[in-house]
Order: sequence, then structure tokens, then C-alpha cells
Amino acid sequence: MLSFWETESFLNYDTIIIGSGIVGISAAISLKEKAPEKSLLVLERGLFPSGASTRNAGFASFGSLTEILSDLQHTPPETILALTEKRWHGLARLRERLPDSVMNYQHTGGFELLSKKELPALEHIEKVNEVLKPLFPEGTYTNRPDLVKTLGFNPEKVKSVVFNPYEGHLHTGKLMKALLLLAQERGVEIRTGAEVTKIEETNSGIKIYVQDPVRKTVAFQAQKVAVCTNAFSQKLVPELCVKPGRGPIILTKPIPDLKFQGAFDFVEGYYCFRNGGQRVLFGGGRNLAFEQETTTEISYNETILSTLEKLLQEVILPDQKFEIEQRWSGIMGFTEDKQPVIRKLSDRLVMGFACNGIGVSLSSTAGDEIAGLLLEE
Ligand SMILES: Cc1cc2nc3c(=O)[nH]c(=O)nc-3n(C[C@H](O)[C@H](O)[C@H](O)COP(=O)(O)OP(=O)(O)OC[C@H]3O[C@@H](n4cnc5c(N)ncnc54)[C@H](O)[C@@H]3O)c2cc1C
Repeated sequence: MLSFWETESFLNYDTIIIGSGIVGISAAISLKEKAPEKSLLVLERGLFPSGASTRNAGFASFGSLTEILSDLQHTPPETILALTEKRWHGLARLRERLPDSVMNYQHTGGFELLSKKELPALEHIEKVNEVLKPLFPEGTYTNRPDLVKTLGFNPEKVKSVVFNPYEGHLHTGKLMKALLLLAQERGVEIRTGAEVTKIEETNSGIKIYVQDPVRKTVAFQAQKVAVCTNAFSQKLVPELCVKPGRGPIILTKPIPDLKFQGAFDFVEGYYCFRNGGQRVLFGGGRNLAFEQETTTEISYNETILSTLEKLLQEVILPDQKFEIEQRWSGIMGFTEDKQPVIRKLSDRLVMGFACNGIGVSLSSTAGDEIAGLLLEE
């Protein structure tokens, strides 16, 4: 049962965005920039964002040499360039929106570790640099074998390092908190603990049903709706082809004399690590158990976690003792062709998700595109 006041003031909006992850909240900010007069509500099932955006590794990246080489086997170079462009411009847009100091953005560069088996990738550096030349005319990737020793990696396991000067890392929690605050400052209303259970299109708009412990089911109404629920989208729109992928992370206690700073990855981006002050954050290993990790359940795969600890000791920190302080996992959204899904499902309903594991840089351009679609007549 609702009161007259509740019905008058809390239920009707020009636009509703479902999901307050980095894509949903960026879309909300973009929409308010383009159309400040529109009333806008964001509905989030968790107390705070509860998918990937507050649980990731904080890489501000666009892809590694071996990842792009693998993609080139089945994706045209123009498509790879276009997606890299969206990520790169997205990062610039994010850094315009928020000062680097607010999100602890550090422009350290990106590094990829190559094993002996992967050394042939170096023969294709120029080919990949050529693909990305319109974006980075001076070249993107360079071979830096000297860094194996300087940065303290195990020379038996790491044979070279590929450097690109355009990437960095940031503090994921500070970034998300700042975006949520910015959205609210711009007049976006955000309701948390609001799990959407059903979306229903009618002649006069879209009804969004949310469970409420006091009022049972509450039906919101909007003229336009964007679904930004990423890996969880199939629950709301079953015909969508987004696959969940769980990613685990381990974080060490501070390590005195840590030899590296920056954003590192290896094996086509399946593993990534970085420093966070003197700590090391290390994530990945989904490729060890693709099927088991195709899940929306936020828990751990112990086998993957112990492999991460082993690789951390054997490859990354061969001479240093460390202790693990925290472990967690988050859920990403993937598509077959690694392209994000940003499109209209009807005149009123827009979808925006599946950053395919690289959402920090892509989210601001994705948000702009979603807002553009919401404003189309
Ligand atoms: C372990 C891990 C490490 C990663 N590392 C990086 C990295 O270093 N750099 C990088 O760029 N990317 C990284 N990513 C990927 C990045 O985090 C994602 O691409 C990005 O966060 C996706 O944002 P999103 O808003 O689309 O999805 P999400 O953050 O998942 O947001 C979706 C939101 O929708 C909400 N929701 C779902 N269903 C409902 C419902 N029915 N009703 C209401 N709300 C709902 C969820 O609670 C969630 O808050 C990583 C991801 C993981 C899991």
C-alpha cells in the first residue's frame, strides 16, 4: 500500500537506469550533462554497487600486445582500433570528469610479461603498432627486456617485458565513490537495496518492479529505461547473450622494498597485477576453469587462488616474502566477439553492458553512448 505522497513524489521519472556500476553511473552523469531538466533515477540491488565496478583491479588500460595479436586472428584491425579508441577516449573523459588525485590515478604505463613461449609475439610489435597508429602515431608497444631484472621478476619464467606508456592504475573505491557523489550533485536520485525483478513495457511508458520489505512490490514508471546490469542482465532480459565471468583477486600486506610500480599483465591479459602503494594486487586465472567461472555467484575457486599465490611467488616476487591480506572476487560480463552491447531494444528501452573485463576506461564513452540513445526521439 502506497500513500498519495509516495505515489506523487517517488514513482515517476523521465528516465530510470538499472544498475549503479561504473557504466550505469557514467550513463547517468552523461544524461544529466546533456539534459539536466530530465528527472533521473538509478536503481541498485546492493547497498552499494555489487557486480564488478567496486571489486576490480583498477587498471586504466586498453589491451596488451598478446591480447591484440590474439584478437587480430578473428577480428578486423579497424574493429580493434575502434574499440581501443573508445577505451582511450573514455579514459581521457574520465580524467576530465574527476581529478587524478580524487581517484588516485597514477600514469605508470602498462607492462606485459612474456614467457619463452610468447617471445614470438615480439616479431609482430610493428604490425600491432601499425594497427593503433591513428591513435598513437609514435608507436604503442616497445620491447624492454632490461626490465625483467630491474623490476625483480624471475628470469627463468619471464623472458621479456613489453612496455606501453599510455596506461595507468587507480583506486577503484575512490573512483566509484566520487562518481556516485558527482551523479548526486548533478541531481541524479539513487536508490540502493532496490532489486528490479521485472520490466514491463506499456503504451504510456515502462514499468519497473522492485521488491520492498515494507511495501512488498513497488512499480516505478519511466518514459525511457537503460538496463546496465552487466553480467546479471539475462535475469531481466533472458534473450540477451551476455555471459558472466568470475574474476578472483588476492592482495598482499605491504612489502618493504617492492621493486616495481605500474600496471602489469601476462597471458593475453588473463592475469594482471599492480602495486597499490607497497602492496601487490594480483588477479586472474579465469582461463584455468572457464566453465566453473561462468557464474554470477560471488565466491572463490580455491584452485585458482592457490595458483595465483604460486605464480606470485614464483614469477613476480621470486626474492621477496609476502603475506596475503585479502581475497575477493567480482563478476564480469562477456560477449563472444568481445564487443560491448550498447543498443536499443525498443524505442524506450536501452541496453548498455559487457565491457569484457576492461570497463574502467570504456565506461565514460559507453555512458555517453547510452545517454545519446536514451535521448533519441
Ligand atoms: C576481478 C575483476 C577485476 C577487474 N579488473 C579490471 C581492471 O583492472 N580494469 C578494468 O578496466 N576493468 C576491470 N574489470 C572489469 C570492470 O570492473 C567491468 O568491466 C566494469 O566494472 C563493468 O561495469 P558495469 O557497470 O557494466 O557492471 P557492474 O559493475 O557489474 O554493475 C552492474 C550493477 O548492476 C546491479 N544489478 C544487477 N542486477 C540488478 C537488478 N536486477 N536490479 C538492480 N540492480 C542490479 C549490480 O548490483 C551492479 O552494481 C575487472 C572485473 C573484475 C570482476
